[in-house]
Amino acid sequence: MMTKARSLPIAGRAAREPVASALDLEAEITRLKTEKNAVVLAHFYQDDEIQDVADFIGDSLQLAQAAATTTADVICFAGVHFMAETAKILNPDRIVVVPDMEAGCSLASGAPASKIAAWKARFPGAVLVSYINCSAAVKALSDYIVTSSNAAKIVAQIPESTTVLFAPDKNLGGFINKKLGRAMKLWPGTCIVHDTFSERKILGLKERHPGALLLAHPECDDVILRMSDYVGSTTGIIDFATKSESHAFIVATEPGILHAMRKASPEKEFIPAPPEANCACNECPHMKKNTLEKVYLSLRDLTPRIEMEDALLRAARLPIQRMLDLSR
Ligand code: SF4
Repeated sequence: MMTKARSLPIAGRAAREPVASALDLEAEITRLKTEKNAVVLAHFYQDDEIQDVADFIGDSLQLAQAAATTTADVICFAGVHFMAETAKILNPDRIVVVPDMEAGCSLASGAPASKIAAWKARFPGAVLVSYINCSAAVKALSDYIVTSSNAAKIVAQIPESTTVLFAPDKNLGGFINKKLGRAMKLWPGTCIVHDTFSERKILGLKERHPGALLLAHPECDDVILRMSDYVGSTTGIIDFATKSESHAFIVATEPGILHAMRKASPEKEFIPAPPEANCACNECPHMKKNTLEKVYLSLRDLTPRIEMEDALLRAARLPIQRMLDLSR
């Protein structure tokens, strides 16, 4: 049965007191974390200054695992909405706040639960595997949730005779199909950031930086994946570059990741892969809605909060828990 998604009213969304320009935001965030027994979880795509105040930085899987094990009373989730929803699903009794409630995701918004439910209904007996970049309502419809770190491992455990539907990222689904020799049916969604990288400009960069390896996230188009030296999750990309003997890398994912890569390997060169257009569209506009000031305000006011109905929380938790169990 389909669970209806309805966000409850957002507490405290009224006008906030302005923040004094002289305020030391880093020091205030540290103070508030202690005062409120709060943790800040940040995705690798967040601005450097947000990553620097975070208690934990990671990819979607690591952040879900951190959210599942925290003992803090308050989780401030510096990422996008579906990630904070996942933290709330795993911590229904804790307060989960987000710096900006409008930080969405093109993959999540391109896969409305009503349409996914109608798609699933066309394939009786099929298993629905959903990438974690989807709404809680889509998670509630899913048999398994996966991340780019564990998708292949989890799909490989589903019998080959089973029809598998994969949503919402067709590039990640296609990558897993190729890797495992499977024929999952793919929802036609893409990430606005990863779909933007330019083959032509990357070839130009490779000419100017001979020896530089191309590292790509599996949300990228197949053209980029085929020319890559390594394809993996954000954590996989960081680990690969850290261990590699090469000294230069072209990185085809959101450039927020470069902060962690440069910290791990300050002697190496990291070049962000460019978009086709002359724009900054390789930066995720949703992730970039979060600012240090908004992190501070969310901890100070404990708003905006993620709230969900119990039935939705329970239904969405099952496939996430299955993923966490299978990822151990
Ligand atoms: S980078 Fe793409 S997949 Fe990640 S949050 Fe932004 S729009 Fe969504």
